[in-house]
Amino acid sequence: MGNFDVAVIGGGMIGPAISLGLLERGLSVCILDEGDDVLRVARGNFGLVWFQGKGFGMPRYVDWTRRSAALYPDFAAELQEHTGVDVGHANPGGLELLLGEEELAHRRHFIGQIYQQGGGRKYEVEFLDRKQVDDMLPGIVLGDEVVGASYSPVDGHVNPLFLLRAMHTRFQQAGGRYLPHHRVSAVRRTGDAYELSTKAGTVSAAKVVIAAGHGLKELGPPLGLDIPIRPQRGHILVTERTKQILPMPMSAFRQTVEGSIMLGVSAEEAGYNDAVDTATVARIAERASRTIPALRHLNIVRSWAALRVLTPDKCPVYAESESHPGVYAIASHSGVTLAAVNAKVAANWIAGDPAPEEFEAFGVERFDAQKTA
Ligand SMILES: Cc1cc2nc3c(=O)[nH]c(=O)nc-3n(C[C@H](O)[C@H](O)[C@H](O)COP(=O)(O)OP(=O)(O)OC[C@H]3O[C@@H](n4cnc5c(N)ncnc54)[C@H](O)[C@@H]3O)c2cc1C
Repeated sequence: MGNFDVAVIGGGMIGPAISLGLLERGLSVCILDEGDDVLRVARGNFGLVWFQGKGFGMPRYVDWTRRSAALYPDFAAELQEHTGVDVGHANPGGLELLLGEEELAHRRHFIGQIYQQGGGRKYEVEFLDRKQVDDMLPGIVLGDEVVGASYSPVDGHVNPLFLLRAMHTRFQQAGGRYLPHHRVSAVRRTGDAYELSTKAGTVSAAKVVIAAGHGLKELGPPLGLDIPIRPQRGHILVTERTKQILPMPMSAFRQTVEGSIMLGVSAEEAGYNDAVDTATVARIAERASRTIPALRHLNIVRSWAALRVLTPDKCPVYAESESHPGVYAIASHSGVTLAAVNAKVAANWIAGDPAPEEFEAFGVERFDAQKTA
C-alpha cells in the first residue's frame, strides 16, 4: 500500500502533531488510524493548554510544558493561515479556584513542592487572595467558600475539536497520507524497514511512531516498549450558551467562544469503562454551583466521559525502542497542551536530530527504577 519514511500509528492529538513536524522536514508520512467506535481521547478532552501544577516530581516536564505554551500562538496562527480553521487558542492566564482553607493549604504545598524541585528556577504560578480573585473576575459573584486561587499567566485554552480538524486538514494539504480504518495489528522488522499489518493491507516505513493512546498497551511490548499506561476516567459537562462571563480558563471551568461553559473534571479509576456516571456528573455540577452560584441557573446540555492515558508518574513518555531502533512511543495525558511542542520540537527528534534536553527525563527506564524502588 505504500512505503513511507515514517508511519505514525494513531490520528488523535499526538500523532497528527508529530506528523506535521515530520512533513515540514520533507519526510513522507502516513497516519494509520482506527475507526470511530474506539477509545479516542482526542475527542473527549477539556481543551486546556495548561501549565500550573504540571511536572510534580519532574522539573523537565515543567520546562517542556512551558515551551509548548510559548510555541502555541505561532502554531495556532500557522494552522489558521493554511487551513482557515481558527482553533480558538487564547492565553489570558488561568486560575484554579480554591474552596476553603484546607484546599488552599493543600494547593500551596503542592505548588511549593514543584517550585522547590526546580531548584528555585522561575515558576510562573502565584497565589491570589479572595479580593484579588474578585478583582480579576469582574461581573462574576463567587461563592462564599472561595478563599483564593492559584494563578499562572502561562495558562490558556483552545478548541480541541477544531485543533484536531486543523491538524488533520493541514496534514493532508501538506502531502501526508491519512489511512482511517487501518487498525495496526502487528509491526515486524523486514530488513531496513518495518512492516505494519492491518486488515486493509500492509504499510512499510523506515521509522514507526506509536502515538496510539491506549493502543500502546498492546502494540508496545512486542517492540520493546512495555510502558505501564493505564486508563483514568474523566467527566465533562457542557452548559447551554450564555453571555461571556469567564475572562480566562480555570482548571474546572472554561467558556468557549460560542458561549457554552465546560465544567470538569473528575478522575476515576474505572478501567476501560468510559460510561457516564450520574453521581459523578452531579458532584461536578454541585461543586460548580458552590464556586460560581450563577452557574446553577444554566442548563446542562451535554456530558460525557473519556479515558486519560496515564503513566504511573503522570508525566509523558518519549522513547525509542532499544530492541527495535527507529520505533518510537509517545504517550501523554496532556496531548492538547503539548501539541505545539510535539509539532515543532519532538518531531525533529524523530526526524533524526538529537533528543531535546527535556527528554532525559521522559524515557521508559524510569518505570523500572520505580518498580525496584
Ligand atoms: C476528561 C479528559 C480531559 C482532558 N483534558 C485535557 C486538557 O484540558 N488538556 C490537555 O492537554 N489534555 C487533556 N486531556 C488529555 C488529552 O486528550 C490526551 O492527552 C490526548 O488526547 C492523547 O492523545 P493521543 O494521541 O495519545 O491519544 P488519542 O487521542 O486517544 O489518539 C490515539 C489514536 O490512536 C488510534 N489507535 C489506537 N490503537 C491503534 C492501532 N492499533 N492502530 C491504529 N490506530 C490506533 C485511536 O483510534 C486514536 O485515534 C484530557 C483527557 C480526558 C480524558
